[in-house]
Amino acid sequence: MKTPQLSIVAPLYNESESLPHLIERLNALMDRLPLSIEVVLIDDGSRDNTAYLIRQLALTDDRYHGVFLSRNHGHQLALSAGIAAARGTEALFIIDGDLQDPPELLPDFYRLFQEGNDVVYAVRRKRKENMAKRTGYYLFYRLLQSISYVDIPLDSGDFALISRRVADVLIKMPEESRYLRGMRSWIGFKQIGFEYERDGRIAGESKYSFKQLLRLAYNGIFNFSEFPIKFMTYSGATAITVALIYLIVVLIKRFFITGVIEGFTALLFVIILFSGVQLLALGIIGEYVLRIFFQAKNRPLFIIKEEIVNREYV
Ligand code: UDP
Ligand code: MG
Repeated sequence: MKTPQLSIVAPLYNESESLPHLIERLNALMDRLPLSIEVVLIDDGSRDNTAYLIRQLALTDDRYHGVFLSRNHGHQLALSAGIAAARGTEALFIIDGDLQDPPELLPDFYRLFQEGNDVVYAVRRKRKENMAKRTGYYLFYRLLQSISYVDIPLDSGDFALISRRVADVLIKMPEESRYLRGMRSWIGFKQIGFEYERDGRIAGESKYSFKQLLRLAYNGIFNFSEFPIKFMTYSGATAITVALIYLIVVLIKRFFITGVIEGFTALLFVIILFSGVQLLALGIIGEYVLRIFFQAKNRPLFIIKEEIVNREYV
């Protein structure tokens, strides 16, 4: 049989240090599994020789499938390109290229998949990152879960095994600002978590800049919740109520008690406070409008420069 049953998908950005380790562990894994597997490696516009290494591998080893993007598109889009290129007929195993997600868990994930789960997602029991990052992640996932309209599981990233039909739905979802772990939850079917301990990077530094991380968090919040807008409406309504009550109090004082209106300070305070509320509200509306703006452009999500694939596979 020539078509792979399973695709292992790993996006790579400047990972030439980790890549040899990744290949070694993937080869060992594939050698002992009785499945036909292809490995889709996506070069996300790397500046080091990651692309060169992937090219050599894809040209010499049938199991490797190289996808080269035209420039750095970011992790979520690189992953989307890999999912679209993968040909595994049964399932796709999605991992990071820096070996923080141990590929050796594949048999466990595959077993759960065979038991009828369409999505087996990894849940991190422990992280080996610094305190500040861990706390940030911890708080973010809890905030997102409390305000999201989709039940996005806590402490799970993109590391997962997804069935062919889930992959097909993901490919059909055209949204531009992608938060794949949220989209995956949204799709539904039977999903199950698998606890594991997240390793540290095998080599090099995190390739997510602080800005990219912030954007990911933003996409999670603004694409999967209505809460910010709802919050705005409620606080607006509350502000108006408070202001009306305040007005009544002032009028009562004016006509029945002191006979004068005093308190320019209070007025100033109120003006400043509610200008702030309004600016915040505008910003939040802006976030959603921005998303409409980008989506309306309807650009392709990513641009593939080259693809090297074993021609024997159909
Ligand atoms: N990555 C990518 N494009 C980027 C940033 C990262 O393809 O613009 C890849 C990276 O090479 C790695 C995976 O995405 O295989 C996860 O990135 P990283 O390890 O930097 O993220 P972290 O684990 O620190 O959250
Ligand atoms: Mg990493």
